[in-house]
Amino acid sequence: MPEVQNIDLKETVEVERIIDHLEGNTSGPTVVFFAGIHGNEPAGIFALKKVFKALKSQSTGITGEIYAIAGNLGALNKHVRFQTVDLNRIWFPERIKKILAKEQTDVEEEKELNALYGVLKAILKEGTPPFYFIDLHTTSSDTTPFIVLNDSLLNRKYASNYPLPIILGIEEYLEGALLSYINELGYVSLGFESGQHDDRKAVENCIDFIAFTLQLTNVAPTLKSDGHGLTSFDGASHKFFEIYHQHTIGPKDRFKMFPGFVNFQEIPKRTEIAVSNGTLIKTRKKRQIFMPLYQDQGGEGFYFIRPIPKFLLWLSKELRRFKVDHLLVKLPGVQWKSKQKDTLIVDQRIARFMAKSIFHLLGYRARQFDETHLVVKSREIASRNNEYKNTGWF
Ligand SMILES: [Zn+2]
Repeated sequence: MPEVQNIDLKETVEVERIIDHLEGNTSGPTVVFFAGIHGNEPAGIFALKKVFKALKSQSTGITGEIYAIAGNLGALNKHVRFQTVDLNRIWFPERIKKILAKEQTDVEEEKELNALYGVLKAILKEGTPPFYFIDLHTTSSDTTPFIVLNDSLLNRKYASNYPLPIILGIEEYLEGALLSYINELGYVSLGFESGQHDDRKAVENCIDFIAFTLQLTNVAPTLKSDGHGLTSFDGASHKFFEIYHQHTIGPKDRFKMFPGFVNFQEIPKRTEIAVSNGTLIKTRKKRQIFMPLYQDQGGEGFYFIRPIPKFLLWLSKELRRFKVDHLLVKLPGVQWKSKQKDTLIVDQRIARFMAKSIFHLLGYRARQFDETHLVVKSREIASRNNEYKNTGWF
């Protein structure tokens, strides 16, 4: 059985694909936690083990079901992010189909995906809605805990119950994440980053987060966690942030972040932040940095984020509610790409005024299709709002 080590806690545990599973006497929601999709991020595994132990010893009454699933078992055992490819960058419907059709593969992560897909399918078939999917991660830099999610109103509404900063729009930069795949199936799904990879605080924050989640979803409302509770995001006047820039590291690039940057840090203009292939990277304006990379593996060097004004959060909700996007096709250069009316193709030579930010407001995710066309896909249509409308938080 693969072993997983936590350096700070000096603990080693054995893990299987299904770390644990509990089912209550009364039926209710199905809450699924994934941990260790990145093998060098074992905090979630340790946290889940501890929460399940508490659930069993406190004999806390459970409504519904809780699953704890291990992600990249092979990489966890070796304490590396991945072995061949990043398991959190290959969840494209087309690619999944190809992987499932293969009889054999040398790519370790394709075997892991195959196993995870089987577990996910079985849970969706046998579990009772509403479903909640939570992916537990940690970061290479020091950080206050935060939530990342695909921007649908359903996800936003659910996540806004946590006293944590929430980062929207990562799916436009990171393709093939497990949570994006699940979100496109219409379920509530969010990622939680609990702290620095090997810091014991990351495990403690994760325990608090899991306990909070089980209370919020009403699955284990009386569970007590030993933690200090989730503290609110210190000194923040804004809760929602959006990513507007990613520094992508090419396969041959030599990238090095300068030491000392922490997540969410505000950086004055003309600060030297990293070096790439011998060239200094300096901020041209005042920036807020997000997820600076302090490890060898990984294709994203850093991001820039900005707070989303409350007015825009409100406006985007109203625009989506009234399906203003359906008026866009009346504009020159904008057409439906699909019969389901969830994807638009925009000829940027004609519709020059259509900025990505307009599509973001309307709930669309943009992809450059070719030099002159932008393809944008709605994240709203798939949402299974009906399955959540009787929950306490909806
Ligand atoms: Zn991760």
